[in-house]
Formats: sequence, C-alpha cells, structure tokens
Amino acid sequence: MVNKVDHIGIAVSSLEESIKFYQEVLGLELHGTEVVEEQKVKVAFLPIGDTEVELLEATTPDSAIAKFIETKGQGVQHIAFRVDNIEAALDEMRAKGIRLIDEKPRYGAGGARIAFLHPKSTNGVLIELCERK
Ligand code: ZN
Repeated sequence: MVNKVDHIGIAVSSLEESIKFYQEVLGLELHGTEVVEEQKVKVAFLPIGDTEVELLEATTPDSAIAKFIETKGQGVQHIAFRVDNIEAALDEMRAKGIRLIDEKPRYGAGGARIAFLHPKSTNGVLIELCERK
C-alpha cells in the first residue's frame, strides 16, 4: 500500500542555516520553500533521487515543530510514505487498529494530501501518509 519514501521531515531551528548545510556540504538543490499556516511551519524542499528532504522551521512557539525541538532538539521528526489513495490507506489503518493523529487528510506542503499515524502505533516513529496528484 505504500509506494516509496516520499520525504523525510527534519525539524530545524533555522531554515537558512540548515539549507546551507544541505546545499554546501551535501550538494543538494533547494527546490523551494512554503509557509504552511495550518501546521505553523515554514518548509524547504531539497530533492534527492526520487525522494526529498523536507526541512521544517516553526513559525510560532506553539507549533508542533517548536515543541519537538524544545523536547528532543533538532533532528528527524517524521518519515512520509507515498500512497495512491489516502482515504483508502486511512481506512486500512483503522481496520488494522492503528491509532491515527488525523482522521481525515489535510493539506500538506507542496499541495499533497497528508495524514499522520500516531507513534504509539508505529514503534515510536511519526509516520505521515502522503498522496500527491
Ligand atoms: Zn512531511
């Protein structure tokens, strides 16, 4: 049901500083940035192969990313798996007894439709399901 790793979400204190690392040290290209108001984050996309590094900077102190950095420090925050049909994927998760953070898909950066699974059901990893047109 999942096709590939769509992207890896990394919580950072400063997009500007982290982008420099990915560009200058690893040689990735910045594909763009976007503010996602609903999630209170500014996102930078750096494609690598057929997946992407997604850097996430909090835009408000009550953003999930701000809370993540406060408790765990900067680092990998979530892994996103691509699905063809997110409603069907969520139904399947429900049927398998997986605890969902999002009962319904919501808007994700880059125009994706996304939903998070609760880490309590995934051995501690925040997993995002991601559908792209
Ligand atoms: Zn993501």
